[in-house]
Amino acid sequence: MTHTPSHSLYSKGCRCTDCRVAHRVYERNAARRRRRPDSNYEPMIRGDEARAHLLWLASKGVGLKRISNHTGLALATLQRIRKGTTTRVRHATWDAILSVNTGTLPPVKGKHPYSQPNYGGRNDT
Ligand SMILES: [Zn+2]
Repeated sequence: MTHTPSHSLYSKGCRCTDCRVAHRVYERNAARRRRRPDSNYEPMIRGDEARAHLLWLASKGVGLKRISNHTGLALATLQRIRKGTTTRVRHATWDAILSVNTGTLPPVKGKHPYSQPNYGGRNDT
């Protein structure tokens, strides 16, 4: 039989040896994914903690543009997370967002930090 063995074909009824193996591997990984989420087996995780952190930063006057500049994450990505449009994020994104706090951010270029009432976040959306 000429086909590419896969879990998908096993699901459709193929019981050749290679499809059985592919199915077994798929189930093993899926079980591990459920049991032990990590970056290899579960690339996306819940984004609500990252969202809460973005809202907290916003309350401190740190806007998305500054976070974007600081982390290298796309502004649009941050906007979707903060709005709640995106509910799942990559581990790396989660780490980058949670690593930002008011102490680690450099002051806005060319301005004295204490002269900025909102720590530079006024014009951010
Ligand atoms: Zn097969």
